[in-house]
Amino acid sequence: MIYITRVLYFSAAHSYKIPSWTEKKNKLIFGPCSNQNGHGHDYKLEVTVKGPLIKESGIVVNTNDIKYVVSEFLERELDGKFLNKEHPFFKKEMPTTENLVKYIWDSLENSLEGCSLHRIRLHENHYLLSEKEDNEMPRITRRYHFCAAHRLHSNQLSDEENLKIFGKCNNPHGHGHNYYVDVTVQGEIDPTTGMILDLNQLDNIVDNTVIEKFDHKHLNLDTEEFKELNPTSENVAIVIYNMLSPHIQGLLKIGIQETEKNYFEYFGE
Ligand SMILES: [Zn+2]
Ligand SMILES: [Zn+2]
Repeated sequence: MIYITRVLYFSAAHSYKIPSWTEKKNKLIFGPCSNQNGHGHDYKLEVTVKGPLIKESGIVVNTNDIKYVVSEFLERELDGKFLNKEHPFFKKEMPTTENLVKYIWDSLENSLEGCSLHRIRLHENHYLLSEKEDNEMPRITRRYHFCAAHRLHSNQLSDEENLKIFGKCNNPHGHGHNYYVDVTVQGEIDPTTGMILDLNQLDNIVDNTVIEKFDHKHLNLDTEEFKELNPTSENVAIVIYNMLSPHIQGLLKIGIQETEKNYFEYFGE
């Protein structure tokens, strides 16, 4: 089986409001997204298909065919629209990233020839994406950020071994990174809010549990977690997963972008 991903873009406006709720509750739950005049996003859509290789041509499906089907759909239904005001589905359902993924999945599932849909991943911006894979519950990934210094050094290795493995990252005074933490939660979409979970609540949990602790700190010197533990990004991912998992139902994984070049993921035991 071969998997192919085509990336497409569209822009749309939306606003979040549950009519049966008071204005105050809408504002509390949806924050600035509850502004009824709307706001917009440049969405990035990744469509992943799968299928067997055709030996003669060496392809599964012409990626231009995927582009044609998907962009025709996007242009007809979503691109350049105010979703709540113009789209029949989103006049009734909340135009959240999760519901958009669900709608795009249902719309495209049977429209591709020679391959089948494997995953729809939709980025609302750099800090929020939702996705659905074949036979899987939907997921949401929220991105958080902290800056910290660290020194890669294991107490269980000699100074020479540490220097040999970690090189300049073993510098006794340390060095630092812009860390990005991706928190992925999997679960059913709440039919009222159109969301897998309350993002405000998630932000509060991650800010209070992780970001406040690590941001602008020296991980080895300023945090309990890494006093004895080598603060490699592998360990950072594991530690953050364990910090968050008691507080977040459906936590699927933690992703750590340490630099542009290195990405680490931990899915729990
Ligand atoms: Zn929005
Ligand atoms: Zn480093």
